[in-house]
Amino acid sequence: MTSPRRTFAIISHPDAGKTTLTEKLLYVGGAIHLAGEVKARGANRRARSDWMKIEQQRGISVTSSVMTFERDGITFNLLDTPGHEDFSEDTYRTLTAVDSAVMVIDAAKGIEPQTRKLFEVCRLRSVPIITFVNKVDREGRPPFELLDEIADVLALDVSPMNWPIGMGGEFEGVMDLATRRISRPEGDSRTFQGTVDEAPLSDRFAEEVELAEAGYAPFDGDAYRHGDLTPVYFGSALKDFGPAELISALAAHAPPPRPQPAEPAPVSPDDGEVTGFVFKVQANMDPQHRDRIAFMRLCSGTFKRGMKLTPTGHGKPIAVHSPILFFAQDREIADEAFPGDIIGIPNHGTLRVGDTLSERADVRFTGLPNFAPEILRRVALKDPTKTKQLRKALDDMAEEGVTQVFYPEIGSNWIIGVVGQLQLDVLISRLETEYKVAAALEPAPFDTARWVSAANPADLKAFTDLNRAAMAKDRDGNPVFLAKSAWEVGYVADRYPAVTFAATRER
Ligand code: GDP
Repeated sequence: MTSPRRTFAIISHPDAGKTTLTEKLLYVGGAIHLAGEVKARGANRRARSDWMKIEQQRGISVTSSVMTFERDGITFNLLDTPGHEDFSEDTYRTLTAVDSAVMVIDAAKGIEPQTRKLFEVCRLRSVPIITFVNKVDREGRPPFELLDEIADVLALDVSPMNWPIGMGGEFEGVMDLATRRISRPEGDSRTFQGTVDEAPLSDRFAEEVELAEAGYAPFDGDAYRHGDLTPVYFGSALKDFGPAELISALAAHAPPPRPQPAEPAPVSPDDGEVTGFVFKVQANMDPQHRDRIAFMRLCSGTFKRGMKLTPTGHGKPIAVHSPILFFAQDREIADEAFPGDIIGIPNHGTLRVGDTLSERADVRFTGLPNFAPEILRRVALKDPTKTKQLRKALDDMAEEGVTQVFYPEIGSNWIIGVVGQLQLDVLISRLETEYKVAAALEPAPFDTARWVSAANPADLKAFTDLNRAAMAKDRDGNPVFLAKSAWEVGYVADRYPAVTFAATRER
């Protein structure tokens, strides 16, 4: 009998406290023993390649990982998402592999742009969200204002589960609204050390609590699991108010692995045969080796080491002899894994983001989107004899989801597309260090890209024939229309109603 799974991610705007909260969750879950280990390990890892130097210089994390811990008989898989907005596409894809999310909001700032974007992805897939309003040990905005903002901006019912008794200098603790018990700050650091009491509240806070309970929807587990309501916890990751409650909330309310959208039919975690999909591919940190790790979310069946899985649609069965399960301390070789678990599969580039792997050959998971790039650049090769290496490099990085690549129908200037500026730096740096190709990025005559399709192939042909100078193929050979502006996309779309212009493409 396997233990229940909770596979989740933390979404937030940079600086809201995701790293701090991650660390505390792992600590409460017993996966690490000293606060500070997550960052310290990250720093060690960072020294390894030039790519990592970019992280170091900019002080951000572009790698993502999976951390597994157990508590009260439940296995938690926490999928870390790169927090920087430049890596949003990678982050988005990770969200396709979770069953729920914790949204961290800075109490002084409220909903920030990145939080909102990530939330929209969760909504697209009906991923339920638990909200954590962080940093109540500091001056923040009034809790009512924050709750109303969440409700308005995200169009969700909000249900406060606890209440901050003051913030900043006035912070006296957090009251659990169900039990009326107050967790108190202690000592000079004003950290939570376990003291809980039911002392009466001053009039002001008694009134606030009364208003909070009267003014918002009571918690409803079904509404939460449908993505219509978010329970809200106030706390401080830094001072240990909240992490334990969040774990309990995930255990009690967050959904176990759900059926996954697939063709010809959704796949239920109870289905006997092993199926899964690749949501991320990461190059080995060692630039001498071209090995890659494909991160697969297991959707059904019991995976056993050595099992043969077939990538749907391309390739022969591959035997997975050295699967990797990710624990916070270290990677461990997995012998068995269950629906909801993430497995790292070492390979030499055969596996791509979006691939379905299964024991049966006829299933294909859907809904792993490619996003329209927001920045396009032309790649200018400094040494023309390196064309082959450049193509390989661009294909490899497209496969990892670092960049997208477009091969124009006319001319030989390949175009790459990214969601954020940092990816451009990563691209140039990796071209030089890993592929020994010197290249420069030049402005492209285009600003955005759309995948085009039509129900009737003749309509698509008529469109592409007349717009050949703006047509390209993505790395899988799909037709892409390159436009000078979003306005042009709208203009052209009006003139060709039979053609669909998609800003995302499902693989
Ligand atoms: P991330 O960018 O979302 O991963 O944010 P971090 O976890 O790195 O936190 C950003 C900054 O906020 C750091 O200086 C943290 O020490 C600080 N921080 C995080 N949580 C809290 C909190 O609960 N209270 C206070 N006062 N500071 C916090």
